[in-house]
Amino acid sequence: MPSYAFVDGQYMPRHLAQLPLEDRATNFGDGIYEVWVVAQGKLVDEQKHFARLERSLGELQIPMPMGRPALAQHIQRLIRRNNIRFGTVYLQISRGASKRDHVPAADIVPSLTIFTNNKPALADARLSPKPLKIITGPDLRWARRDIKSTSLLPNVMLRMEAHQQGCHEAWMVDDQGFVTEGTSSSSWIVTPEKVVVTRALTNDILPGVTRDTVRELMSQSNHKFEERAFSVEEAEQAAEAFITSATNFVGPVVEINGVTIGHGQIGEVTTILRDLYLRAAGL
Ligand code: PLP
Repeated sequence: MPSYAFVDGQYMPRHLAQLPLEDRATNFGDGIYEVWVVAQGKLVDEQKHFARLERSLGELQIPMPMGRPALAQHIQRLIRRNNIRFGTVYLQISRGASKRDHVPAADIVPSLTIFTNNKPALADARLSPKPLKIITGPDLRWARRDIKSTSLLPNVMLRMEAHQQGCHEAWMVDDQGFVTEGTSSSSWIVTPEKVVVTRALTNDILPGVTRDTVRELMSQSNHKFEERAFSVEEAEQAAEAFITSATNFVGPVVEINGVTIGHGQIGEVTTILRDLYLRAAGL
């Protein structure tokens, strides 16, 4: 049975789905996206991802192509139609298509694309988290990293480098030597004093939905929590490190730039937060 995609108001077999030649997401990276995880057929952190989508669109003055309930209905239909129990939903809204010009046509209409990916491995990832090795590299992105833009070239470049070095993720580092975030995840450390640290929300990082849920859950753990910048050196000497993202949940980092973190295994605090998150997400 083919997988279906939703493109500009129509369901169609995914392999037939296309965007126009002059779609602005392709020509300019002029678009926004969101990724939800589907677990047991349900969207995780559903409303928070919608809220971030609406905020990102608002910052770029791209109108929502339809209201949140209608959008949610199309997503649910695709999940059912594609029989997704564990997987992801990718949703992209581009400013639309018009003759290639930096100034969009006055009557441009946003284009909406939704597709799903079946990922049965996510079911196992809940039970046994993969220990992650990461590298760090310069953050080459723009000054509005809070917007979930489809322009991801610096993220792609650094992630390819991590992959070439046999690593799973890369943490990006600002001009002052402080970690901003991962190429597709939020960055966290646990200090030797067991303080949980992640960078504060500003335009320097994407407001991670998983980050937000874990931050809320901190009140259920006995650990001190600080939202502040941390350097690469502090991260390398941390007792524990982890990433958060929709698809990684709370993912233990056991090596940074070849330096073993803690005992080189998933840490105690990371395990507590991971379990809290998985329970809260209904996983
Ligand atoms: N930071 C960046 C740059 C990302 O691309 C992502 C996810 O794709 C995240 C952080 C984590 O966000 P979330 O927890 O909402 O998946």
